[in-house]
Amino acid sequence: MAAFTYATMLIVTLIMAGAMAIAWASFGRPRHALSWSIAYALYGLELVLMATISSVAEPGRSVLWSLALLAILIAAALLAVGARQRAGLPDWRRRFAAMIGVMFGATLLVRLIPAALPFTSLASSLFTLVMLQIVIAAIRPRGRRPDAAEWALIGTLAAFSLYEIAFIAVRLASCLHPENAGLRAAYTNIYLIGLVPVFVANGIAGVLLLASDLAVRLRAQASHDPLTGILNRRGFHEAALRAVANGRRQRQAIAVAIADIDHFKAINDRFGHTMGDRTLHYICTRLSSGLRVEDLVGRVGGEEFALLLVNSTAEQAAQAMERIRIEVAAGFAEDGAPVPVTISFGVASVLIGTGNAETAMAEAFDEADRALYRSKLGGRNRTTLAALA
Ligand code: GH3
Ligand code: MG
Ligand code: MG
Repeated sequence: MAAFTYATMLIVTLIMAGAMAIAWASFGRPRHALSWSIAYALYGLELVLMATISSVAEPGRSVLWSLALLAILIAAALLAVGARQRAGLPDWRRRFAAMIGVMFGATLLVRLIPAALPFTSLASSLFTLVMLQIVIAAIRPRGRRPDAAEWALIGTLAAFSLYEIAFIAVRLASCLHPENAGLRAAYTNIYLIGLVPVFVANGIAGVLLLASDLAVRLRAQASHDPLTGILNRRGFHEAALRAVANGRRQRQAIAVAIADIDHFKAINDRFGHTMGDRTLHYICTRLSSGLRVEDLVGRVGGEEFALLLVNSTAEQAAQAMERIRIEVAAGFAEDGAPVPVTISFGVASVLIGTGNAETAMAEAFDEADRALYRSKLGGRNRTTLAALA
């Protein structure tokens, strides 16, 4: 291969290694960014070794070739290690090390057979092809559809795989028919034309995925409460607005409720702040499990929760709240000690058809708040329906 091509490829791999390293440093140090950065650096090392090989005599030549093979095997395995780290799966480090050992040893043994020597150049492509399938399987999310950045990387990985398949096919054919100059030319062309775009596309898609993962994490943090894991005020507001707009379009009844823990200050004072936090956690669990999946619950104040029930009248919502209230009042024990805790509710319906979604929702929550106040005045541990307040 021409020195020019080696230089271009080397620059590309180093840029990608650098981009991954910067992504690692700036995007909260995800381990897989580092794995992918090292993988690109190893591809660069392989290029340097292959570029110098022609100017070295045996046995140095064979040593350089073996080192280059090892670099590419480790690089391919690191792509898979990184993808599995990102997915939170065991990174299979030992398994990959064993696979590299077997592939490397077997290739060196085959090199001892002169007739089989040309075929050993297939080893790295075959190994890479297998690793790419492991990467694709790990990038595909479980239980949801891939997002745009995940689709992009899966696409470029598929292109990388096709490139390796074409490369293996033509290389194999030219090994079997060494006299065929056309096959040799095709092999060189695939190698020269395909490698740079495949490396660049995968590198860009990889960095985009790292950025997109960070954005997803920050969005989740911005809309959720760290103590209880449910929506916070802002997250609840956004999700509730969407639900109200949707409900109005479909002319469905929507009800809202506010729940406030009774004498929560006394729980903190009597049992300590840690037990107070656990109580909050417990109440969240009860509220969430008392609702349907499409309903919403958020922590909108210290010990205050907002709920939204879709396709539900205020009366039905009040019945659901009563069930939760009775369940909570029946008792809750932590570390064997009973913690007396009750909650009060205010329930109201969202008016369908008048004003915009934002105003309708704000009015409904004002109504629910007033109803909650009545529950507190009336002695707590009760549910008040706004219409009857
Ligand atoms: P009421 O029945 O009238 O609602 O009385 P209350 O004591 O529940 O209401 P108040 O508003 O007086 O007190 C709320 C308490 O909630 C005060 C505050 O220390 C506590 N609190 C707020 N956020 C947290 C939290 O994150 N963890 C814990 N442990 N306590 C919290
Ligand atoms: Mg309270
Ligand atoms: Mg309160």
